This record gives sequence, C-alpha cells and structure tokens, in this order.
Amino acid sequence: MLGPPGAGKGTQAVRIAQRRGLAHLSSGDILRSEVKDGTELGRKARSYMESGGLVPDDLIIAMMVGRIEKAAGPGFLLDGFPRTLAQARQLDERLAALQRRIDRVIHLVVGDDELLNRLTGRWTCTKCSAVYHERNSPPARAGTCDACGGELKQRPDDRAEVVANRLRTYHEQTRPLVDYYHGRGVLVDVDGQAGMEEVTRAIESLCERGA
Ligand code: AMP
Repeated sequence: MLGPPGAGKGTQAVRIAQRRGLAHLSSGDILRSEVKDGTELGRKARSYMESGGLVPDDLIIAMMVGRIEKAAGPGFLLDGFPRTLAQARQLDERLAALQRRIDRVIHLVVGDDELLNRLTGRWTCTKCSAVYHERNSPPARAGTCDACGGELKQRPDDRAEVVANRLRTYHEQTRPLVDYYHGRGVLVDVDGQAGMEEVTRAIESLCERGA
C-alpha cells in the first residue's frame, strides 16, 4: 500500500487484510509499539518519528523483514513500507531469497490540501489504532474509540508543523517508488479521495483481477 501520509493506507489495509486473510504489516504501527514499550529500536526511532523524518533504512529493513519471515498465511500486506528506493531494492533482494515477491502495489492518490485537512483533524485510538476525524468521521462519544473503548489522542506527528515535514519527506523520498513499481508493471493507481467503501471496493476488484 503506497501513498502519502493521510491517504488512508492504514484504514484500507486493515479492511483488505481482514477480507483476504493476509498479515497486515504496518511499519508505523510497529514502530509506535516499539516506542511505547521503550525498546532499543523504539528509543532509536523516536526522534525521527517526532520530527516527521524517516527512521534509518537499516533499522526498518531488519524490523520488517523479520516480520515478513514470521508472517503466517497466504501472504502479507505492507503498509508504510518500503518508503525509500533503498528500502524497496533491499526488500526485493530479501524477498527473492525467501522465494517471495511483491505482486501488487496499490498507489492511493490524494492531493496535499486534502491530506493536510485529514491529518490535522485525525484522532487515533491508543489501544487498537482505529482512526477518526473530528469532522468527517467523529466517534459516537468524544475522545473514546467506538471499536474498543480505548482513549483517542492526536498522534504527536499529526500536529500541523510536523505534518508539513511529513508531506515534504513523502514527496522527496517516497514518491520515487511510484516510478520504481510502475516500471515493474505491478503498480495501480486508486483514487484515495473517493468514499472509504468505494476505495475498498476498487482495491478488492484489483486484487481479484490482478494488476
Ligand atoms: P506512519 O504511521 O506510516 O505515518 O509512520 C509514522 C512514522 O514512522 C513516519 O513518519 C516515520 O518517521 C516512521 N516510519 C514508518 N515507516 C517507515 C519506513 N518504511 N521508513 C522509515 N521510517 C518509517
């Protein structure tokens, strides 16, 4: 799942992974839980995450390849990884050694103004990572997750000044992956500004048809 922060990668990845029995591997969620648990990786990653920059490639590759190796079931859905060309190239090499491959890349396309609005109004469940938006999709009870009753908070990196940096980082470092995967014939664009159900349907039908 490829796209800028706020494009809906996490929301869509949870739905698609559930429906298709895939392991959902979100680099951002894994990093946040490492930070919360105070692990060595979490301590190293924290300052990069808080500034809206990227965590160094070697840390991310080791973390994600470890999860892929452990993932049971028919396949896995990567969300937020890879995010640099170096990560994508190393991922390809490591997957080839495991006789696996990326067979489809869903590119969620959303304009910057919409992303800014989505991210700065976003509230995230501290327990289950479900996301809400203060205007577009508020929870039934303010501050409480509809799904699990957990507390909703604004992610520190969803503050306006950090969001601007995350978008810049996306354009500079992650956007080149669109050409990389396009060149391999596995990339498909999906309009991420359509309604949530419509986006899910579009992704599902691509999964059925093949890229
Ligand atoms: P996300 O939840 O995907 O927006 O990720 C939150 C933050 O975690 C990012 O702003 C980065 O600092 C870090 N991060 C997540 N995935 C990666 C990755 N593949 N490479 C480097 N940093 C990452």
